Amino acid sequence: MAAVNQKCQRCLRDVPAGACFCLVCGARVAGAPRELHRRRDLEKLAGVCAGLADYFDLDPTLVRVVFAVATFFTGILPGLILYVILALVIPAR
Ligand SMILES: [Zn+2]
Repeated sequence: MAAVNQKCQRCLRDVPAGACFCLVCGARVAGAPRELHRRRDLEKLAGVCAGLADYFDLDPTLVRVVFAVATFFTGILPGLILYVILALVIPAR
């Protein structure tokens, strides 16, 4: 059976057969295994928010904004500690 390319659901570009992520925008391909990893390819700091966004099929910018706002309104330190813990616990990919 010939390998058939898929379309990225976010940017609609072709994704090579067998790839788990779009090579253009980094979105997870439908049906790819869902694993929590830090996205070093999309990282602004350590890739935690991009990894969480990827896991929950959300926009990385949205997750970063929500995380930043939540961090600000909880006195900053708890959010920073949580981010560092997540960066240490979640494996990079
Ligand atoms: Zn894409």
